[in-house]
Amino acid sequence: MFKTILVPIDMAHLVEGKTIIDVAMEHASEEAKIILLNVVEEIPNLVAIELPANYIDKSLESAHDKLKAIATAAGRKMDVEVRSGSSYRTILDVAEEKQVDLIIIASHRPGFQDYFLGSTAAKVVRHAKCSVLVVR
Ligand code: ADP
Repeated sequence: MFKTILVPIDMAHLVEGKTIIDVAMEHASEEAKIILLNVVEEIPNLVAIELPANYIDKSLESAHDKLKAIATAAGRKMDVEVRSGSSYRTILDVAEEKQVDLIIIASHRPGFQDYFLGSTAAKVVRHAKCSVLVVR
């Protein structure tokens, strides 16, 4: 059984997010830790100067609230992490930092059925040091 399961969630994929949470619950024993992670992509400086000063803080806060709501709806204790950075790099960094032994990731955004793997999912599968379960 897996001890620490990382479930990266893209807020734009929330419908699919629910599915990967269902899969995580099926693969987690009662003692297992499930970590929900959202990465807020960094905004290029040229764009950032046009945004309100607290835009990034608000985005991080809103992502945190949404992940908390997902965990509450799932009815199970889950840790919630929100980071800012490159999505695939941050997913891999958190996996190492938290000694994750399974990453459960959606294959691509909802509706893109012809896609085999989205760009973030592909890089996570290629570079992760732990097992990765890709949900299609
Ligand atoms: P697409 O290219 O179709 O958008 P992605 O590879 O970006 O597909 O997304 C597939 C999955 O990767 C998402 O459903 C989610 O599990 C994970 N993912 C992508 N972007 C992020 C992000 N910013 N934060 C957390 N997880 C993400």
